[in-house]
Formats: sequence, structure tokens, C-alpha cells
Amino acid sequence: MKKPKTYFIFTFGCQMNKSDSERVAGDYLARGYQLAKTVDEADEIVINTCSVRKSAEDRARSLINNLSKKFREAKKKPKIILTGCMIHHGEEKLLSMLPFVDEILPIAEVGFNSAAVRRDKQHAWIPISSGCNSFCSFCIVPLSRGREVSRPQPDILAEVRHLVRQGYNEITLVGQNVNSYGLEKVGIGLRKLLMRDPKQLKLPANKSQYKKFKGIPPFVKLLDKICEFKQIAKLRFLTSNPWDFSDALIDCISRHPQIDRFIHLPVQSGSNRTLKRMNRGYTWQDYLQVVAKLRRKIPGVTLGTDIIVGFPGETDTDFQETVNLAKKVNWQVAFVARYSPRPGTVSYRLYPDNVSDVVKKKRWQVLENLINQPHLTHRPQVIK
Ligand code: SF4
Repeated sequence: MKKPKTYFIFTFGCQMNKSDSERVAGDYLARGYQLAKTVDEADEIVINTCSVRKSAEDRARSLINNLSKKFREAKKKPKIILTGCMIHHGEEKLLSMLPFVDEILPIAEVGFNSAAVRRDKQHAWIPISSGCNSFCSFCIVPLSRGREVSRPQPDILAEVRHLVRQGYNEITLVGQNVNSYGLEKVGIGLRKLLMRDPKQLKLPANKSQYKKFKGIPPFVKLLDKICEFKQIAKLRFLTSNPWDFSDALIDCISRHPQIDRFIHLPVQSGSNRTLKRMNRGYTWQDYLQVVAKLRRKIPGVTLGTDIIVGFPGETDTDFQETVNLAKKVNWQVAFVARYSPRPGTVSYRLYPDNVSDVVKKKRWQVLENLINQPHLTHRPQVIK
């Protein structure tokens, strides 16, 4: 009998990438491939990349260099396929930069509905949307993954039903902006602007990039439907954007004890000047309002966040405003990143990376101590 072909996958980056890799594996199995025991035995190697910081791209490049050294003298060279966020560089550029790569695979080609290969037998990640319309100025996602596409509700529910039958009792819904699931987008035309002279580049209005929705938002309807599966003991979702976190969503969480009481709500900065330049669509006061509503309606809710320090032009005063907000909100955990300019993004084109590494590191340390190791500083106050 002919030996089946084998595959091996390397995954960098966020949960969305991990979820995508599960589906890439499912696609291989559907085509009769088997998972190789080691990378040396693989006929095809997929590298699912991340571009959120330069260091993430450097790690993928160094892996490819190591693979090229490893297989240079080998009798049989595996096919190397690159996918994930690095594909925003474009096929031509990537293939000339990384000649050892054989193929560039846009992740959208794998699709939502390839069966995922999951190692965990209790908890499952389910993608509900891909791409993003929000164009935060520092972020490569709208360019690497394209415009937001929502997965049809019946397909998501069919996957939940299937998982429940297999004994899964924890689910995390994933998407770049889950709150905007199924919403109608506002045409912002930024892509066209990106093609022009950077001096002419204007940010779209700092506001939600979705049409106002009357009635129950599609994401809330989806959560209500999933909560009808009583076998699901814990339901989580990632990632939420503050400007699309509706009152209806807060009510929905409060009426379903199955929905996790930990909410990850990225703020990125506590300075309105910086938020505007990040094109985040809210002020720190708007963010606090969402936090106050969450605390009022959902007893025991805890919050996490993402913060970028050293965004171009961030002054000591801007940073102090982020510190002040941290003291007010009392996040349980924060993923604090030092700004890293990503070619192709709006902030890369518009603003010089003018905060030094030393200052970025100091600011990072202040927030780490304040939020993630609060025993090193005083207790922050909690707003009600
Ligand atoms: S909401 Fe902003 S940070 Fe999040 S994926 Fe979209 S553009 Fe990037």
C-alpha cells in the first residue's frame, strides 16, 4: 500500500492563528495526509506566521533559515508553505526574501468549515469571523487578513452541536472583533488612501466602522443560541473592541452564567490624544463607561486588557494618563507591548517611531509592576 504523505505545522502568534492551524491540519487530513512524527519526516511543512511585532517575523525568518540549513543536503526537500499575517508583504516579495519557501497560502483559502484537528478534548476554539475593518493605525491585521468576514450562524451552531456530541463543554469563540460579528460595515475607503502619497493619507473618522444596529445585535443572538446547549459549562470570546461592546451584549452576559466573567477588553492607551492617533474610535472616558456598566450589571466580572507603550509621539503626560486609567480600572491582567512599527500600517507611514527603546522599556516596566505585579506598587482604586 502506498505510504500516505505527511505534514507538519509551526504556529506563531495569537489564538486566531492557533485556531487556523487546527483547520489547516483538518484540511490535510481530509486530503489523506497524516501528521508527521517529526519535522524531518514531513513531506509538507506549513509555517503559520505572526506580524504583530518585528520580533515575531524575525522568529519565523530564523525558523525558515534553520529549515533551509537542515534540508540543504537532504535527499528529499519538503515543500515549505508560508501562511498567516506575514503574507501582507505580498507573494513576490516573500518568495524573493525567503527563496526556500515554495508556496504562499492566504489563510482564507482554508475556510471556516474545514474540520479542526483538536488536541484538547474538553475545550474548543471556534472561529466566528476573520479579518478586520477597524484599521487601528498600528495594526497589520486589516492588511494581512483583509476585510472582516463573518461565518454564518448555522455553520457555527452545527460545529457547537458536533462538539457537544463529542463531549466538549468549554468553547471560546474567536475573531479579530467578535462584537461586530454580522454587522454591516461602513465603507471607509482607507485602502485606497493607503495607495497614495503618505502625506495625503487621512485617518477615517475615529468611530465604529459598522452601521448602527437596531434591535439585538447578531453577536448577542449567537451567544443566546449557544447558551441553549446546557452541556456547555463555559463560553468565552476573544477579542472585544470597546467601541462595539453594546449594552445588549452586557445584558446577555449578565443573564447567562455559562458566559465567563473574565472579559478581555483591549484599551491600548489611556490618552485621548494617542487613542485618536491610533484610530481607536473611543476616549478613555468611553472605555470607563463600558467598564462601569459591566461592573454594575455583572457581579464578579474581572477585566483584562492590551496596552501599547511608546506609540509615536507618546509624551510623559500621555503615558501618565494610561497609568491613571490603570489605577481606575484595576485590570486583572494586561498584555503590555512596546510599540513596534510594522511596514504597511498607517502609523508606520504617518508617524516617526520617536520614543526611544529606553523610554519604552521604562514605561512597560511601570505598567507591568502596576497591573501584573501589583504587590510591587500600591493597590489601584476600583471604579464602581
Ligand atoms: S480592531 Fe484594531 S487592533 Fe484589532 S485587529 Fe482590528 S485593526 Fe487590529
